[in-house]
Amino acid sequence: MPATIYYDNDADLSLLKDKTVAILGYGSQGHAQAQNLKDSGCNVVVGQRPGSANYDLAVSHGFEPLPIAEATARGDLVNILLPDEVQGDIFRNHVRENLSEGNILMCSHGFNVHFGQVEPPQGVDALLVAPKGPGHLVRSEYEAGGGVPCLIAVSDGASEETKKLGLAYAKGIGGTRGGVIETTFEEETETDLFGEQVVLCGGVSELVKAAFDTLVEAGYQPEMAYFECMHELKLIVDLFYQGGLNYMRYSVSNTAEFGDYSRGPRIINDQTRQEMKKILAEIQDGVFAREWILENRAGAPAFKARRRRERSHLLEEVGLRLRGLMSWIDAKEV
Ligand code: NDP
Ligand code: MG
Repeated sequence: MPATIYYDNDADLSLLKDKTVAILGYGSQGHAQAQNLKDSGCNVVVGQRPGSANYDLAVSHGFEPLPIAEATARGDLVNILLPDEVQGDIFRNHVRENLSEGNILMCSHGFNVHFGQVEPPQGVDALLVAPKGPGHLVRSEYEAGGGVPCLIAVSDGASEETKKLGLAYAKGIGGTRGGVIETTFEEETETDLFGEQVVLCGGVSELVKAAFDTLVEAGYQPEMAYFECMHELKLIVDLFYQGGLNYMRYSVSNTAEFGDYSRGPRIINDQTRQEMKKILAEIQDGVFAREWILENRAGAPAFKARRRRERSHLLEEVGLRLRGLMSWIDAKEV
């Protein structure tokens, strides 16, 4: 069944006229959504702890950042735009007691609501408005007169009013210019985790590393392996982005297209597809969520150790050097 998509005409911004939106966190999403709403004429308060660059940024954008508890108390719609792994604690310690009946608790990713780390109290509906792009794009597209498409979802039993306010909010950040797709907390959370684990972050990184290692172990120069297995990925992904797999296959050589059809299925084979199903099941039954929540509760020791190890992979050393030779790349170093 095709998704329901809402546009500008389906949303009434005036519903937010007498409301205050509290944006908790002034990071990637927070800075973009707060500014877009303000430029759309909404009343916005920012909750941001002092002492960080993000606090100064909010001040430089004309906000007077409040402690999170105070901002929550001021907001009719309270949007938690903090990193997912800190939301549970901050909700329990600073947000929950400052919500009142009729308030709406918002987020841009359903993880914490879906997995019970953020539980809206009696009389408070949960609402998700999730831009399908990073904060800087949410801001720059809005300023250019466009908008990044968004997802919208409301909690079970939420009122019709909550959904209308959600569409108004989406309009305020520019989302209805691009289109707002209706989903559920469950679907947004599970597909988001699945995509990042299997393709976007996990799948692609391991694919690139394994291919790089294979060439290097076979005696090829690491620089060649880097260009073929990592650098050129961008060219291919840009073709996907513009015209799908068809356009990529139309653009590459027939030799490359034949290699794609005849070898690709040997890399992503039945075993890989089975493993994808297992990973999806671990997302659906909460096994992944529990693992990640417990890891954070313990101070993320395994996560940090793995991060250190990954940062020193030969692929990263070679890449750093080669990117330095390509001035147009706008190379970044972590
Ligand atoms: P960021 O990491 O960019 O935001 C960090 C913000 O949270 C900063 O204001 C930071 O303040 C504050 N913060 C971090 N830790 C704490 C803490 N312990 N106590 C108080 N404040 C804290 O987050 P994102 O914008 O990336 O993500 C926000 C939400 O949006 C998440 O739910 C995410 O899944 C979702 N989302 C993100 C997208 C993205 O592209 N980034 C895309 C779509 C959804 P300080 O500067 O003081 O550390
Ligand atoms: Mg995502």
